[in-house]
Amino acid sequence: MVNALLCRLGQYLPVLSSAWTCTILCFFLIASSNASLAAEQGREPAAILIENVNIFDGKRDAIKANQFVLIVGQQIQTISDTKIPFQGNAVRIDATGFTLMPGLIESHGHLAHVASLEQLKYQLDWSDIGVRQAAIAKSWLLDGFTTIRDVGGPTLGLKRTIDAGIVPGPRIYSSGAIITPTAGIEDYQSVNARTRNMTFANDREHLESLGYYSRVDGVAQILTATRNNLGSGVSQIKIMAGASANDGKAPAARLPFRPEEIKAAVNVATDSGTYASAHVYYPVQINQFIEAGGMSIEHARAIDNPTMKKVVNKGVFVSVPLRALSKDNSDGDNSDQQNLLQLVQKHNPKMVFATDAKGSVDNQARQRRQELFERARLLGNFATLKSATSVAGELMQLSEHRNPYKLGKLGVIEQGAYADLLVVAGNPLADISLLGARKSWKNKESPEPIDTIKVIIKDGKIVKNIVRRRNQAN
Ligand SMILES: [Zn+2]
Repeated sequence: MVNALLCRLGQYLPVLSSAWTCTILCFFLIASSNASLAAEQGREPAAILIENVNIFDGKRDAIKANQFVLIVGQQIQTISDTKIPFQGNAVRIDATGFTLMPGLIESHGHLAHVASLEQLKYQLDWSDIGVRQAAIAKSWLLDGFTTIRDVGGPTLGLKRTIDAGIVPGPRIYSSGAIITPTAGIEDYQSVNARTRNMTFANDREHLESLGYYSRVDGVAQILTATRNNLGSGVSQIKIMAGASANDGKAPAARLPFRPEEIKAAVNVATDSGTYASAHVYYPVQINQFIEAGGMSIEHARAIDNPTMKKVVNKGVFVSVPLRALSKDNSDGDNSDQQNLLQLVQKHNPKMVFATDAKGSVDNQARQRRQELFERARLLGNFATLKSATSVAGELMQLSEHRNPYKLGKLGVIEQGAYADLLVVAGNPLADISLLGARKSWKNKESPEPIDTIKVIIKDGKIVKNIVRRRNQAN
């Protein structure tokens, strides 16, 4: 309507033809509306002041009462036990009775596994996967997860899109395509494909083409695949250093890498200033991987006492989805879980919160909330929260030169840390259900929003704030 008006106005300008005038005026109109949009965004408060809040800092099993926290830009600027005088334009959040804690970090996610393998292979194309993983990323953020380390799948585009502010979601530390040997656990070729092309050359299975995995054999191919991933911008790499024998499909066909192949992948990652994580189950595999310099073991369900000792001595991170080892999800057998728990209690390794969640928005929500419940039941609330905050933050820093978020620490509340924060109605150290932890789900029941997470801040920006609404209602 304004454009039409301007065009009519243009008819009265004698020098230019009306078409040209219209074009020029419309250009200025668009330019000025962009400018007013920018001005509006500029009016967005540069600071957030959280007042009268109790703090769980991600490191200590304690609450510091009645604190004041000032966030400026992307970082925490001041933490004080007295009121912070601040003159600028700030959003003030009265958090009396609430707890401020670091945003949660998931260390074993698969955002691109948006559906079952069968659906991914035969029913969905790249656009289904792209849109669905954006929805899944948003749901993780709204559950309080401000960072996800994705350990396999095409998620770099999603990461870039979230970082650009186009869609909401957590920070993503992407591993890119999982590096797996032919007939390894992450090689999804069918038997027909194998017999049709015995050399396997130029015959990429659909999911490999999409970037879920790279099927490689021998040191030379492993070097290329690892460098490809690093060149694409991954933060760390993930290799299939060990096969699982209990996947129930074709155990004999699930082959692991050879030690020299593992070493080649780990060396490329280390040389380029980051680290390798690996899917490993058994002591022999874990030992091979950590001897080669690997720093993050995924699953590790059958780890033994001497291996756990070595893991701790080398400062290796242990990323085990505990829910998968419970009686409910492991054919009624939880002996691996019991064994692991004893070793964790004995050696106190660097455990990170890990879900291995896959599937739809709802399925991933159920899995992460169950993992919170199961971990807290087995390890306690503090150990669970620490594994999802400060310890995981330490793991993210291992990406060193490849760390996409270098400005501050993640997973802690301290001066200079990234302002990735949650305000929770109550004390999560005393009650983990405030973060959505839940034992089980009725069939098809959709996970409801977690109303006890009152505020979510990521990168200094408010993602959710239902305290403000409460204040306004008063
Ligand atoms: Zn996984």
